[in-house]
Amino acid sequence: MPHRPAEAEHIRHCPRCAATSLSWHSTKNFRCNACGFTLFLNVAAAVGVIIECRGKILFGVRRNDPGKGMLDLPGGFVDPEETAEECAVREVLEETGIRIPGGSYFMSLPNSYLFRQITYSTLDLVLTVRLDEFPAMQAADDLAELLWVDRDEVDPEKIAFPSLREAVLRYMASMPPVLQAVPSP
Ligand SMILES: [Zn+2]
Repeated sequence: MPHRPAEAEHIRHCPRCAATSLSWHSTKNFRCNACGFTLFLNVAAAVGVIIECRGKILFGVRRNDPGKGMLDLPGGFVDPEETAEECAVREVLEETGIRIPGGSYFMSLPNSYLFRQITYSTLDLVLTVRLDEFPAMQAADDLAELLWVDRDEVDPEKIAFPSLREAVLRYMASMPPVLQAVPSP
C-alpha cells in the first residue's frame, strides 16, 4: 500500500507523467507506479558559521521565514561541487561582507527546513572562525541585521533552528573565549 509521508504532503504527482500512484520508501524516495520514475529526496548539506571576536559571537537576524526575526548564524546551502569550507567563505561574504580566512570544522547536526510547504532534511555542518579584530560588515541576502552578542548574553531561545542552538551551546561550553588578540610568536 503506497503512502505519502507527512514531510511530502504536497508531493502528489509524478514529476514525469503526473500519475498519482507513488510508492514511497521511507521519507526519502518514491517510485511512480505508472512510469517507473524514481526520485530521491536526499539530505541537503548546509553550513553555519560561528564567528567569534573578543568574547562576542556574530548572529544575523533572519529576514525571511522559516524563523523570520529570530537569530541565525551566517551560512546556507552548499552548492554542487563546493566544499563546506568554500561554502562558509562564500555565504559569510554574501550575508555579512566579511572575508573570513576559511573555517575550522566543529560539528554537524541534522535539521529540517520548511520552505514553501516542503520540508527539506538538511545536515548542518558547523564551522568556527575566531577573529582578532571586529571587521567592517553589512547585513545582506537572508539576514536583515547583524549583531555581536556577548557570550554571557546569548539567549538560546532566540536562535531559529534547534540544530544551530545546540551547536552554539556546545561551542560556548567547549571553546574558551578569545578576549583579545593572540600575540604573534
Ligand atoms: Zn510517472
